[in-house]
Amino acid sequence: GSTIGIIGSGQLGRMIGVAAAQLGYRIHVYAPDSGPANDIAFAHSRGAYDDVDALKAFAAQVDVVTYEFENIAAAPIEALGDKVRPSARSLAVAQDRVREKSFVEQLGGRPARWAEVADRAALDAAIAQVGCPAVLKTTRFGYDGKGQARLMAPTDADAAWESIGGGPAILEAFVGFEDEFSVVLARGLDGAVVTYPTPKNVHKAGILDTSTVPAPAIAPWCAEAEALAAKVAEALDHVGVLTLEFFCGRDGAVFNEMAPRVHNSGHWTIEGSETSQFENHVRAVLGLPLGSVAMTAKRVKMTNLIGDDVAAWPALLAEPGAHLHLYGKHEARPGRKMGHVTRVTR
Ligand code: ATP
Ligand code: MG
Ligand code: MG
Repeated sequence: GSTIGIIGSGQLGRMIGVAAAQLGYRIHVYAPDSGPANDIAFAHSRGAYDDVDALKAFAAQVDVVTYEFENIAAAPIEALGDKVRPSARSLAVAQDRVREKSFVEQLGGRPARWAEVADRAALDAAIAQVGCPAVLKTTRFGYDGKGQARLMAPTDADAAWESIGGGPAILEAFVGFEDEFSVVLARGLDGAVVTYPTPKNVHKAGILDTSTVPAPAIAPWCAEAEALAAKVAEALDHVGVLTLEFFCGRDGAVFNEMAPRVHNSGHWTIEGSETSQFENHVRAVLGLPLGSVAMTAKRVKMTNLIGDDVAAWPALLAEPGAHLHLYGKHEARPGRKMGHVTRVTR
């Protein structure tokens, strides 16, 4: 086989495509519209994410199907059967905040105190259970902090409910953490797991700003988090890259959420690791052996270029040790990820 089908047309698909090309494979994108992945794709099937017939026609043209985006309904993906890696089950669990938190709890992981919020009445009960401050999040389809509202007091309930557009949602206790981090691992078709050095992540306005490796401040929380991530990957029989996000809590690592895919906090691996997260994802979904995740540098820091940040890109070309990535998006809207820069200290 020689073609990887990718559901989604964003920058993650584009970077999977770059890694695939290096190994002699090509990508065929399935998405309703064109995005950064289309610029480098061999073919594009245009269709809705829930159009089972169109998805099946697409899958028939490729050797394996993967996804770069988890905000798609799981049922149509399930209809594609074993050709999809990671499986539709990984997608179904990871895209739903109730399912992912329950799943992780069953494996011994600890999210912040949380409660399911089916409707407005349930929100009052959830506030009584979880307390304030708290964060109300839509159960599905949120990203970059969208679909979230902070409650400082129970009197914020109406405004929070309205601002996320109603339920289904979950309410979780606000975690007063110093630091947060993510565990990025790849699991092969044969069950082999490689776990990248864990980056410390800093967010700005709900959007990832920087990922830094190594980060001594988070070290005491990493072993527990990495062990949990490996358990989750195993329990899902996950194939491909899997990411778990954590807060550094007072009593250990607090699980936030997972993504069944390559992750923004893993972009540093393109220059900073022997094998990037994108290459290991390609290797995993194709059933190839995984590559080393050893660092190739002493220190690596990835910074996202969000919205107008991207205007500074020419200066980054002149900076020693800076590796610029632009996603080819034409319009720099506020909050939009336009590219990233990885600064490497050898
Ligand atoms: P992503 O783009 O990572 O998928 P998302 O929209 O799914 O983001 P979360 O990861 O749930 O959102 O939250 C975004 C950020 O908001 C977190 O990385 C963290 O900085 C902050 N945050 C989320 N939940 C909490 C919480 N319970 N307590 C404190 N901060 C939180
Ligand atoms: Mg998320
Ligand atoms: Mg997140």
